Amino acid sequence: ADASPPLFQLVDAVHRNVDNPPNGECVVYWMRMEDLRIRDNRAIAQASAQARKDSVPLIVLHVLSPQDYIAHDRSARKIDFVLRNLQIIRSRLSELDIPLYTVSHEPRTKIPAFIHGLLQQWKASHLFANMEYEVDELRRDIALSGIARKHGKVSCTFLHDRCIVPPGEVTTKDGRGYTVYSPFLRTWKSTIDQATSDYIGEAPLPVANDPAVRSHPVYSNLFDVEVPHEVEGFTLDPKVRERMASCWPAGEDAAHEVLRRFLETMSRTSHLGVTDPLSESAKMAKNPSTQSRLGKYNDQRDRVDADTTSRMSPYLAAGVISARTCVREALESCGKKKVDISRDTGVGRWIQEIAWRDFYNHILAFFPRVSMGRPFLEKYAHIQWETNEAHLQAWKDGRTGVPVVDAAMRQANTMGWMHNRGRMIAAMYLTKDLLIDWRLGERYFMEVLIDGDLASNNGGWQWSASTGVDPAPYFRIFNPYTQSQKIDPGGEYIRAFVPELAKVRGPEIHKPPPALADKLGYPRALVEHDMARKQAIERYKNIGKK
Ligand code: FAD
Repeated sequence: ADASPPLFQLVDAVHRNVDNPPNGECVVYWMRMEDLRIRDNRAIAQASAQARKDSVPLIVLHVLSPQDYIAHDRSARKIDFVLRNLQIIRSRLSELDIPLYTVSHEPRTKIPAFIHGLLQQWKASHLFANMEYEVDELRRDIALSGIARKHGKVSCTFLHDRCIVPPGEVTTKDGRGYTVYSPFLRTWKSTIDQATSDYIGEAPLPVANDPAVRSHPVYSNLFDVEVPHEVEGFTLDPKVRERMASCWPAGEDAAHEVLRRFLETMSRTSHLGVTDPLSESAKMAKNPSTQSRLGKYNDQRDRVDADTTSRMSPYLAAGVISARTCVREALESCGKKKVDISRDTGVGRWIQEIAWRDFYNHILAFFPRVSMGRPFLEKYAHIQWETNEAHLQAWKDGRTGVPVVDAAMRQANTMGWMHNRGRMIAAMYLTKDLLIDWRLGERYFMEVLIDGDLASNNGGWQWSASTGVDPAPYFRIFNPYTQSQKIDPGGEYIRAFVPELAKVRGPEIHKPPPALADKLGYPRALVEHDMARKQAIERYKNIGKK
């Protein structure tokens, strides 16, 4: 059941658990796995300011928690991305004479006591961290605060930094979280307008440590702690690792570069790597545009056959760049002083997408049941799903016989990323055409996507399955073939990811006739769409009557 009040408000309430901690010998910033940056990061900025005020060193702590990864279906791809980012952060921090102490700890329920032990050992006066809105993580922070309060020696401060506007600041008149996006968006914008400098401003990171700190007898050994290259149980095949590193280079500089390419006129590709066949396409190279991809975003964003979106999601999901910075730079690139959420500009549309990210995080914070495998609309807990292993596996492998679904799934399997339209079509196909439980799709996306993010993934899946907040109505089911014609008219996306169809030209690419499919070794469609659609509507309609 939903907690009342929501847990994140409890963490808010305890966030300064010890007002006047005794003098300590250091300040600790606990960097979480969705917090992997130094720039524009509230908790590290405050920790750094505190350390300077007290003239003590700053220590950055990162706890690897394999049990949490399992509980949240974290993929080996994502963990590898985290480690690659941490390696870069470690060297940046050591240039500032700040150690990054990366440590693995199990069981996860003992993490609060373990961290408290470290704080005592280091004689820390303050701990700062950015808040995570997942239930277990909020409970963990409450537990740590409780232990620290009992001992009365460390002040723990948990800050809101994941969203542009924190949960609790965009509410209905009676203080509840919004469950419909449009009114949320309007209030979200007016909240930002009222406090632009607070939300959009860059948090400074003054250099906290005096170089002499390095030789401090207690902490100097922390500088020797390396970031591991892998976490047991999350080993990536070396070839996949190489591909992921090529598609998604780690580090804040890479994130800023990907953003710059999206915002800048004449940039043809978001990609720093070489693995995406579309971003390398000769077509784009021959026709350099005079408009930035952001400028074209409003008209082009649904096209999967070119590089039409920012591809910032892996960096935003891991916090390698803040959403604030993205919005600020997008506005600056268009010479705008106020947040634009209009439907007819590229920047307005793009900021609306960033607002969806905030929206789903607010949903997670206000309605924690969504992260516990529950549909937001409880009545749909009783849908009778099909248990067809062969269909599920065909969907995962991109062998459903529906070319656009297969291209999307194979894009995810190869690149660790999928275009938003691909996600919507693939998710709706699994839940409506195959009538397979959305939770199985949600889990598979977390397994393969490098941008796997609990709030957005859950929101996207529940939207597609019509079980979530502000969902697609259950009777509006995408026809994957007509979708395919709209978003990939020439079939380039399909040809790029489905080699069996690489030589097919013309409209047949969207729905190859059975004889052609057989000849090319491409599977026939698993189900007939019109019949499947009727069956799904019946099933949802009958639940609605109960
Ligand atoms: P852009 O179009 O450039 O958008 C910019 C940013 O806005 C994105 O990076 C993302 O942070 C945010 N955003 C865009 N669309 C959405 C949205 N619908 N919901 C929430 N945030 C959004 N996004 C994830 O980051 N992680 C996920 O695990 C994830 N799973 C999804 C599952 C399903 C079934 C669906 C339908 C959507 C999912 N999304 C997820 C949302 C969206 O598809 C991706 O954020 C987007 O495709 C990422 O590409 P981009 O960075 O080029 O997006």
